[in-house]
Amino acid sequence: MKITNKFNLPETLVALASRDYYTKGQADYSVTEIISPPRVQRLRKQHYHEMEQDVADMLWMLLGTALHVVAERSEIVGHTNEERLMVGIGDVMLSGAIDLQKDDEDGITVIDYKFTSVWSLLNDKPEWEYQQNIYKYLVERVKRKPVKSLRICAMLRDWSRMEASVKPDYPQAPIQMVDIPMWDYADIEKFIEKRIELHQDSKVNADWNEELPLCTDEERWMRTTKYAVKKEGRKTAVRVFDTEEEAQELLKEMPEKDKGFIEIRKGESVRCTGNFCGVSQWCTQYQNSLKEEV
Ligand code: SF4
Repeated sequence: MKITNKFNLPETLVALASRDYYTKGQADYSVTEIISPPRVQRLRKQHYHEMEQDVADMLWMLLGTALHVVAERSEIVGHTNEERLMVGIGDVMLSGAIDLQKDDEDGITVIDYKFTSVWSLLNDKPEWEYQQNIYKYLVERVKRKPVKSLRICAMLRDWSRMEASVKPDYPQAPIQMVDIPMWDYADIEKFIEKRIELHQDSKVNADWNEELPLCTDEERWMRTTKYAVKKEGRKTAVRVFDTEEEAQELLKEMPEKDKGFIEIRKGESVRCTGNFCGVSQWCTQYQNSLKEEV
């Protein structure tokens, strides 16, 4: 991957961004790999040498790396930082690097640091659940000790003190601890086997973009179309609906003087349109969907 420096930032940042921090040790797959869509993984492997990213767009990745380095230096009894665990699943080796484990007498708490948005915190983030439960499996298998809770330490990069002061549902501090639901050991094992199988199958068809498994709506971070009922002179919507019919109903009830109208907020697959997967230009699934829209 080529790192560009369009805003003439210090060379030290470019050097930091260019370093490859990612390692899965001797394993065949990492946890991050198996939870990500096979289509993304295969296209990234095929086009890695053509991919480009500007150092200015890598700020949060750099801060995430810095946090891990700093966290590794703190030594607190009963806390294990940055530990890589590895297990065999059939003839495949799977590894995962766990940010923090807090070891108590009655079990281990697994904690992962995430730099993320307020939107992610307030909406479902299934990949957090997948990742944390696979870490639970690794810990229980390697250490033979139960995991008693799974938690995310979410650092909200777009948190606003102003929003927090006026919205009671808004996170009240820029760092939040989030509890993740735990799965049974056997269910996690089945899930891991299924994900490895999916990735192994996609390797067979690596040269055939059309034959790669399609990314699901969940994997594409699909936001559905919404219908906002608004009135003239007011910035925010009166209410937002999932269907046009519901919006029409409310519109009929509004007094004429409000000059109500419906604003259609078109749904989109955010991961594709924002190229958060990094491979949208080579992805036939996304490129075909754009042609269909024309
Ligand atoms: S562009 Fe969308 S559909 Fe294609 S690989 Fe990326 S996330 Fe998946």
